[in-house]
Amino acid sequence: MSRAAATPERESLHQFIARYQRFLLTTHVNPDGDAIGSEVAFARMLRSLGKQVRILNDSGTPRAFEWLAADGPVEVFSEELAETRFTEAEALVVIDTGNRQRIGRLSDTLGRHAIAVAIVDHHVTHDGFGSVNVIEPECAAAAVLVYEFTREAGVPIDPVAAMALYVGLATDTGNFRYSNTDARALRMAADLVELGVDPSEVMSRIHQSAPPGRLRFFGEALAALEMRHGGQLVVLEATPEQFLRHGLSGADTEGLVDLPRAIEGAEAVALFSEVEPGRVKVSLRSTGRVNVDGVCARLGGGGHPHAAGVMLRGTREQARSRVLPELERLLAELPPVGGETAPARGAGA
Ligand code: 5GP
Ligand code: MN
Repeated sequence: MSRAAATPERESLHQFIARYQRFLLTTHVNPDGDAIGSEVAFARMLRSLGKQVRILNDSGTPRAFEWLAADGPVEVFSEELAETRFTEAEALVVIDTGNRQRIGRLSDTLGRHAIAVAIVDHHVTHDGFGSVNVIEPECAAAAVLVYEFTREAGVPIDPVAAMALYVGLATDTGNFRYSNTDARALRMAADLVELGVDPSEVMSRIHQSAPPGRLRFFGEALAALEMRHGGQLVVLEATPEQFLRHGLSGADTEGLVDLPRAIEGAEAVALFSEVEPGRVKVSLRSTGRVNVDGVCARLGGGGHPHAAGVMLRGTREQARSRVLPELERLLAELPPVGGETAPARGAGA
């Protein structure tokens, strides 16, 4: 028995799924745990409903999630494969991104094919390019949306889907540490554990797959961290030479920008990662009091209030000069710590 859809947009997505038989799923470039986990779980739901499903992404799956992607299976873009998959499919479901440009090279392929598009996302910044757009920024992860939607569809969540959803939820909440960790996320985690997920097993699968070079690289980047704006802003850089020397790719910076959150007094962290000369991936994080998504959105990127990113052309110095003054302006507007929560004199509790 299926339940009623929670919103009219979700109802439209149920109808969208009922209308088609052959689906293609995709997500954003450089997929993370939420992207891969949500795709795998969504694919299993569709298969349970008797649909044919393929998953095709612009970029490869990070090593940490390869074990999960094997079940998808998650395929990686080539011109020929994309043509084949778009020709076979009747409908495309874009998961964990609402920006057309973020699906990378699939955007060009999409331009050449008449195919119905639905979006399943939780980002604040989106261009809603689907004919159905289920975009719920209050969900901690796209996996929350996929989980609730699967239940609405009346489809049982099998052990693999449960694990995939747990990966999405745990990675997007920083293992239930970030400000998006709410009761809904924790209840979902408890449900998934009841469905057979072993959190410690999932954590060791995700977090024990780094090559030694990645930690040496983290060490170098952290050793060179800069403190700005009276210790409220932490700045990290990664150079093309470092990626080359340690045999790493852009995806290997995953997690690096989150580490300086540990510094007392840090309000924001900025990582300028020059993956290849002239291409700088900017990652911003907030520890909670400043919203950093606007800074990225103005430069053509986006994300969430406390975690956002953008890819910029030019040197690291140029990227810094476009981002750091904006961040420092936001920090300058912050009230002193504790100031905003101190009760007014004479006010009642
Ligand atoms: P990260 O810094 O880990 O790459 O990304 C942090 C958040 O910002 C994620 O939610 C990610 O989806 C979003 N994000 C990162 N880069 C971009 C970008 O270039 N464009 C948009 N719209 N969002 C981004
Ligand atoms: Mn996500």
